[in-house]
Amino acid sequence: MKTFWSWTGNHVLRDRRASRVLCLVLVAAAAALVQPSLSAAEEIVLAATFNYTTVNGSVNADGNISGKPIAATTFFDRDFLDLPTNDPDDPLGTARHELFHGIGFARAYNSFFSHLFQKPSGPLTGEIVFNELTNGLGNDLAVITPVGTHIAPGDFTGLGIGGLLQNQNYFLMTPGPIPNAPVPYAIDAVDRSILNAAFNWAGTGGIKINVVFDTTFGGFTAAEMARINLARDNVQAAFGNPTGDNVFTWTVQVPEPSGILLAGFGLGGMISWHWRRRQLAA
Ligand SMILES: [Zn+2]
Repeated sequence: MKTFWSWTGNHVLRDRRASRVLCLVLVAAAAALVQPSLSAAEEIVLAATFNYTTVNGSVNADGNISGKPIAATTFFDRDFLDLPTNDPDDPLGTARHELFHGIGFARAYNSFFSHLFQKPSGPLTGEIVFNELTNGLGNDLAVITPVGTHIAPGDFTGLGIGGLLQNQNYFLMTPGPIPNAPVPYAIDAVDRSILNAAFNWAGTGGIKINVVFDTTFGGFTAAEMARINLARDNVQAAFGNPTGDNVFTWTVQVPEPSGILLAGFGLGGMISWHWRRRQLAA
């Protein structure tokens, strides 16, 4: 039986460093929304993914959108793009992470959300899990954060239905790198299996991802574009050589540093958001 759970509306993770990533989840017609308060001055935004778009979809009563992902937009702040490749803040891993949100790893997509269940009992009581089936009776693939859009850091080895849960600390879709984690974060088999359970990218010819560099707010250097394109290549490869049946447009932009929140609020309803912590070590 599915246990329903509610979105609390405001989930901001504090960090000891100035580097952060904001993940915005927007839909076009979400009306009854709680907009969390945030002082723009207290946070520095490095990346945000929003404008989730599907084909043959519709907006559900819960605000999530049905259908197959075909487009999303990510803002990359200049500070992020200019980070050296050996920076522990992991810009390549973050690009992969944001693209994963775009192609399906977001509760805004109903095909993802419909796999989330809250454990009513047992060692995972109260935890949200991603089950491989939408009736909740398959194997649990990962424990998900309360927000419903990230893999929860932590060691859940052997728990849950099927005993497939693992130590999730280094998975790409955790909220952010943890101390001593290898960077760049790699695409884990579990990150991949979750999207395949939701959208079956690997079983339907892979996903062809076209990057659009939108220079409305600023241009990209060759190194920055190379990093973005490498993240695209990595994510495409994770689901096999794409045949072109599934085509996804990833628009990337450089915003004004203060422009992300304004753009986010202006593009429709915000149903979920949270900061991605970049690094916990001082
Ligand atoms: Zn994220």
